[in-house]
Amino acid sequence: MAATVITGRTRPTKVKKQANVQKRKRDDVDVEKLEQAVTELDLQNGSYKDFTDLPLSDPTKQGLKASHFAVMTDIQAKAIPLALKGHDILGAAKTGSGKTLSFIIPVLENLYRLQHIGADAGLGALIISPTRELAIQIFDVLCKLGRHGHMFAAGLVIGGKSLDAEKQALTRMNILVGTPGRILQHLSQTVAFNVDDLKMLVLDEADRILDMGFQRDVDAIIDYLPKERQTMLFSATQSRKVSDLARLSLQDPEYVSVHAEDKSATPKSLTQNYIICPLEDKMDTLWSFIQASKKSKILCFFSSAKVVRFVYESFRHMQPGIPLLHIHGRQKQGARLDTTAKFSAAKASCLFATDVAARGLDFPAVDFVIQVDCPEDVDTYIHRVGRTARYNREGRGVIFLAPSEEEGMLQRLEAKKVPVEIINVRQKKKQSIKSQLVHMCFKDPALKYLAQKAFITYAKSVYLQKDKDIFKLKEYDFEAFAASLGLPGAPKIRFLKDDDGKKKKQASRQTLEVSGSSEENEGEENKKEKPVRTKVARMFERQNQDVFADHYKNLVTHGEDEEAFRSADAFLGGKSAIPADDDDFMAVKRRIPADGEVSDDDDDEDEPKTGGRIINLQGASQPLVIDSNRREKLLKSKKKLLKLKDKGHKIVFDDDGNAHEMYELEDEDDFKAKGLPEAQRQKFIETAKEVVREADVEDKAAQKMKKKDKLRKRKDRERNEAEKVVDEDGEDVEEDAVGFGGVDEDLLANFRADADFSDQDGEEAPTKKPKKWFQSDSEGEDEGRGSKKRKKVRKSKRDVIEPQTLEDMESLAAGLLG
Ligand code: ADP
Ligand code: MG
Repeated sequence: MAATVITGRTRPTKVKKQANVQKRKRDDVDVEKLEQAVTELDLQNGSYKDFTDLPLSDPTKQGLKASHFAVMTDIQAKAIPLALKGHDILGAAKTGSGKTLSFIIPVLENLYRLQHIGADAGLGALIISPTRELAIQIFDVLCKLGRHGHMFAAGLVIGGKSLDAEKQALTRMNILVGTPGRILQHLSQTVAFNVDDLKMLVLDEADRILDMGFQRDVDAIIDYLPKERQTMLFSATQSRKVSDLARLSLQDPEYVSVHAEDKSATPKSLTQNYIICPLEDKMDTLWSFIQASKKSKILCFFSSAKVVRFVYESFRHMQPGIPLLHIHGRQKQGARLDTTAKFSAAKASCLFATDVAARGLDFPAVDFVIQVDCPEDVDTYIHRVGRTARYNREGRGVIFLAPSEEEGMLQRLEAKKVPVEIINVRQKKKQSIKSQLVHMCFKDPALKYLAQKAFITYAKSVYLQKDKDIFKLKEYDFEAFAASLGLPGAPKIRFLKDDDGKKKKQASRQTLEVSGSSEENEGEENKKEKPVRTKVARMFERQNQDVFADHYKNLVTHGEDEEAFRSADAFLGGKSAIPADDDDFMAVKRRIPADGEVSDDDDDEDEPKTGGRIINLQGASQPLVIDSNRREKLLKSKKKLLKLKDKGHKIVFDDDGNAHEMYELEDEDDFKAKGLPEAQRQKFIETAKEVVREADVEDKAAQKMKKKDKLRKRKDRERNEAEKVVDEDGEDVEEDAVGFGGVDEDLLANFRADADFSDQDGEEAPTKKPKKWFQSDSEGEDEGRGSKKRKKVRKSKRDVIEPQTLEDMESLAAGLLG
């Protein structure tokens, strides 16, 4: 065997070393046994009910026990055995049915059996979540389960924090949880982030991650990952779209859908109702509901961040008697985390949220989910309402539907097996806050501004909704809605106005049609009576006619202004469609003949009709009319004259020195001889594609080489530096080592404090870089020799490092700079 790399790490104490060796031996046996048991798992059996029925490693078992997880949920019982065997999985199960453990356990177990541990192993599993909050939650579950003896280094990358600090720690990670954007950022920017050996990819809330919003990021991430890997997708609304499966290159995926046969797509313990609530009553109804449920934990969903802010700010002013919170994507990361933590811990609280909180979040014991604004589709409805009634607990969902939304939404809900029942609001209990809101908006311009923004974004969201069977823009009473927010009138919105305009147009057309068919004669008369409206006529109908008239006055010549105006007046008055004297109206100060226009009198060519002279500029297709001082001056400026000249065109010369146009049309016969145009086009596309494909392969190979080279260089550098550091202070690095997987506290500052899963039960402290830096068993025998050798090397290194002369110092500085 090649000589072991001597590093700066000093020899472990004898006791520690023996313990390490023993543990490794135990692990080896453990892994072999587990591997055997996993291959023997009977997937048809279905008798695996408890976690203890599965061949799991001790650390995982400990983790499950500590979290009091004993009996598996349906999705866990089906998905975990398959995942342990390495299958690709499409997991679908209702909200709150334990999907998180269905992928966390296989991630830990499969990497454990592969002993994919330590900094040199690189990234083994990547878990992607659509939102930061969900990523944090997944990471917490991972830590809770993994901290009882597992040695993986796990990290969380969700953006909103310093990229550089994350970069350093990333290179040592074995398991990473993150959001698509940030993961991609690291993949493209962090040179030493090695994913070449990735074994597992997990997408939680997969349908959301695979939809349009994340498409580009996810596709780019997939490009970086090796094709040979296990891929698992989980969601309560899992799709089996072939295109998605192809994008992720899934191999014979197992579709695990445990509730497909159920009567409803939502949890059994969830009671679902809807109320009919016109837009203008929403605020009153919501306020009254909150007043009646002050002791509950309520989560309210709205269509946009602006609406959330307005409702939060206005309700807060009115002191509702229950702690209010709000969360939306436009908040800073710190505020978002703070809110989720507060709402999780609260007994009674009301959280106003956008759909950032719709997916995956496991707030304990939410009593009500109120969907104040109708969700864009049933999937969103299912996820929103799924924040309550989790893991067999009771919960209630209420959705506010405008009268025009009722029919469409109910149809959609029924089609997806979501049972909802109508309930009525007790009118006696209903309070009106309209006047209070008006008063508040009047007094506080900031609140009024928020109300306006809320109104506009709400109207916009309805306008942009795809499902027009539910969202019928024309049916909402926006004026009344604006008033209900405390606004004196509805802010003007283009598309609402357009719609009005369209309505008017349609209406007038309809009346014309109607009159045309039933009272044809009358219609004809109407048409006759109406003067013809030309473009010019419309121009003169402008509101600010005075301005236009002044300008117009300057345009007319020979003191014929009055007459021209008279004709314009007549024009505007609609008495006559065309001015009495057309020439007068058009008699302008200067006139440049249009293309191809031939002068009546050839002799007079150089003389403009209204005075001045005409100059034929060389290189200009149009003659230049000099009829003012400004034009005279123009003649003196070469630069300005250039603008009037036609632009030259580029010609190319062939080898014989003959000039050609840049692009010359091919001879028609030659072109025809080559075949049909379509065939030629195809051929061209094929060849171009081939060229691009070849270039792409080369580029990719070059890029890969470059990346590997950089990675190698960086590792060498890091290793050298590590050696130097230890050599210089001569201390045992192992003493400073924290956690497993070699992630020290500083680097982890960016990750969660509990990111390291170091054994808390007092077993031996794991070493910093376990695999590589460990001595092999055979080394132990010639320990004396080894240590001597090490000393020698260290000595020789120190000889070089200790600077004696200026030159030494310079070379040392150059070395440190790398
Ligand atoms: P999903 O992802 O399916 O919406 P989660 O994984 O978030 O659901 O789990 C919902 C809740 O159920 C969590 O609070 C979790 O702790 C709990 N849970 C999951 N599996 C079990 C289990 N086997 N036994 C007890 N509780 C569980
Ligand atoms: Mg989940």
